[in-house]
Amino acid sequence: MLIAHINRQLLELDAAALRRRLRVAESPCDPLQAFEGEHGGQALLAFCSNDYLGLAHHGALAQAMAEGARLWGTGSGASHLVSGHMRPHAQVEDLIARWFAPHIPHARALLMCSGYMANLALTTALGDGSATLFCDKLNHASLIDGARLADAEVKRYAHGRLDVLAQQLAACTTPLKLIVTDAVFSMDGDIADLPALLKLAEAHDAWLILDDAHGLGVLGEHGHGALEHFKLHSERLICMGTLGKAAGVSGAFVAAHPAIIEWLIQKARSFIYTTAMPPAVAHTILASLKVIESPEGRARRTRLMGLIEQLRTGLRALLAAQPAWTLGESATAIQPLIVGDNETALRLSATLRQQGIYVPAMRPPTVPQGTARLRITLSAAHTPAQVQRLLLALAQAMGEPA
Ligand SMILES: *Cc1c(COP(=O)(O)O)cnc(C)c1O
Repeated sequence: MLIAHINRQLLELDAAALRRRLRVAESPCDPLQAFEGEHGGQALLAFCSNDYLGLAHHGALAQAMAEGARLWGTGSGASHLVSGHMRPHAQVEDLIARWFAPHIPHARALLMCSGYMANLALTTALGDGSATLFCDKLNHASLIDGARLADAEVKRYAHGRLDVLAQQLAACTTPLKLIVTDAVFSMDGDIADLPALLKLAEAHDAWLILDDAHGLGVLGEHGHGALEHFKLHSERLICMGTLGKAAGVSGAFVAAHPAIIEWLIQKARSFIYTTAMPPAVAHTILASLKVIESPEGRARRTRLMGLIEQLRTGLRALLAAQPAWTLGESATAIQPLIVGDNETALRLSATLRQQGIYVPAMRPPTVPQGTARLRITLSAAHTPAQVQRLLLALAQAMGEPA
């Protein structure tokens, strides 16, 4: 009964070109990456990871991971509140707190196992029955799930429509108001207007929760993310960042006023009821954060920005001949080539794959209906020649009849 029920629904997914497939990578996260059963076992030129600075497979970080395991073993053995919170976890929190001190007065940080869990922690621990959560409709799935789990009322506003948000805030009667937004939207790469959002928060006595999964490491002179990019400063800012994307490791953090961090420690179930991340991972994160704010990190950001410019210039030229498709307005490493229907996105992705290039097709429900796309992501580890190869392959693929 259950199996038949599932199989029927799987066939429906197939029919709508929405079936997802797990692929096994046979080599580390790099621009050239091999996958089981694909391209004759040869490496594909991949534009799909969130490893924006090329740190996921970095010698110094691998060494830090080995050293961390030697010093601290492989497991934390318990949740943070029992005995799993070790010196490397505390060191990461201290460094993150220092990063955010210019933006959030008296900032304190809390390390968590993943961004998904950090977002559940924030929305459920802060979004109690006295609160309203105001959410951008294109927020990441983890924020959407967190809002579902929270006792708070939830209002959603169309992507970037701060005029709608302002009306919702003005009409809101709950004592606590929390604006919740991606800082860099994960499928579009656009940066939220955080200065305007903070002004709204101040005008309506609200708080601003921002998810900087895609800004951390990439934005700001020192890679501290969207708050450094906009040079914002306010007690009302609550920042979540992830450590498995540009930082190249795993995990996430929340940086906020000390009272907010203390409350998460008391109430956030996705913090309390899970085993602390391995101390060796925290030790590696510390090494990664030091690279991110070093001259090497800056050089990697500069290289990434050059590749983004190269790709956008090339794509704009290509799209002159294909006006049905659009390139999203993005100044970040996420570059969406929006083609509309699922089949076109899949066909384009498959054509590129035949040429040894992997760019994933993103379809609903990950993106809104009718906006299926190639989500091209760049890394500082890519070379200009590799970006050129992608542009040439796209030009060829676009010339082919549908
Ligand atoms: C990836 C991502 C997350 C989840 O972070 P994980 O550490 O991978 O769980 C949260 N928010 C956004 C915007 C993301 O892109």
